[in-house]
Amino acid sequence: MIEIVNGDRCIGCDICVKVCPRDVFDSGADGLAVIARKSDCQTCFLCELYCPVDALYVSPHAEVDDRVDSEELIAQNLLGSYTRHMGWSRGKMGGTDKDPTRQLRGFNRVGRENEKVTPEAEGQGAGGRG
Ligand code: SF4
Ligand code: SF4
Repeated sequence: MIEIVNGDRCIGCDICVKVCPRDVFDSGADGLAVIARKSDCQTCFLCELYCPVDALYVSPHAEVDDRVDSEELIAQNLLGSYTRHMGWSRGKMGGTDKDPTRQLRGFNRVGRENEKVTPEAEGQGAGGRG
């Protein structure tokens, strides 16, 4: 669950406000992000991935309030650690964007659709089994 917006690091870019699928953040009066609807967080880590200054910390514990301390997280180099582990840097993609899984699923789906609608494919399938 989202735990921290570090106000010293946040530059008010609003990226987390835009990428959060659960509308957890608001832009505060000072322009910095604030956690407005914490209990709506689904622990997807998108905000942490996209934050360009490593100002966010999402705890891997989805159901409990972790009550982490910002200074401790910095001391342990944990602010933005999920982002680094995923190979991203300063909000820029660095590895997971090249994961071919989505494309492979697309190919498989098209393949199945083609088998269904192409008589030749049906004939080949029957021949192969017989
Ligand atoms: S972890 Fe996901 S749901 Fe939670 S605040 Fe970040 S982007 Fe929103
Ligand atoms: S993405 Fe990071 S820098 Fe941008 S508003 Fe959110 S916390 Fe602040």
